[in-house]
Amino acid sequence: MKKKLVGLLVTMGIVTSMVACGSKESGTSSTSEKKQLIMATNPEFPPYEFRDGNKIVGIDAEIAEAIAKDLGMELKIDGMEFDSIILAVDSGKADMGIAGMTVTDERKENVDFTDSYATSTQVMIVKEDNKDITKPEDLKGKEVGVQTGTTGDIYVTDQKGVTVSRFSKGMEAVQSLTQGKIDAVVIDREPAKEFVKQNKGIKILDQEYTKEEYAIAVKKGNTELVNKINASLKKLKESGELQKIIDKYIK
Ligand code: GLN
Repeated sequence: MKKKLVGLLVTMGIVTSMVACGSKESGTSSTSEKKQLIMATNPEFPPYEFRDGNKIVGIDAEIAEAIAKDLGMELKIDGMEFDSIILAVDSGKADMGIAGMTVTDERKENVDFTDSYATSTQVMIVKEDNKDITKPEDLKGKEVGVQTGTTGDIYVTDQKGVTVSRFSKGMEAVQSLTQGKIDAVVIDREPAKEFVKQNKGIKILDQEYTKEEYAIAVKKGNTELVNKINASLKKLKESGELQKIIDKYIK
């Protein structure tokens, strides 16, 4: 009986000191204790996200870093296929999807979006000497390359009379175009500029395919995180830091 009581007191003592210790530590900001903020992205989308060695870098990575810093959290970036990002956010494997992701009504059925942090357009890339494609309607009867699951894929798939060729990476679609296997590629403007720079004999058409807005995807119903990220984004916009990050990558 006595032994039992002592044991209990000892246990209580340990528990108490553990609690005390915990509450003392929680006020500090040592990195090991910072809560992780996990970002899901597809690092095949320069200048928003791409690999530099083993690291995933780019506009979105830097915005995420700035948000994590503002929230006192530690950022972890998970690279995956573009069409796995919403799934990762929805299942809670990632806290947020930042991937030059366009806000669409269909996606809003599966995730919530923060305020927009960038505007973009879908553009068409064709061979430099191509004369019969100058506007979206001209894609009719042609074979068009897109990145699977992107808005480019969705729009072109919806367009009547167009044959869609899907690739897991935008760069692969562009290479297929330079090899003459397809007639055009529909993709976001900034990666398009990067891919055209890296491949000879292709050009971006002046006429845009569509306009769109990029935002951060968060698990449906997680208003708390949406509000926190929006507050951080607001600070980044007002301080000029967001523009600074964009200007570093888009000249
Ligand atoms: N903006 C496009 C989309 O949201 C493409 C994004 C991407 O490939 N990372 O579908």
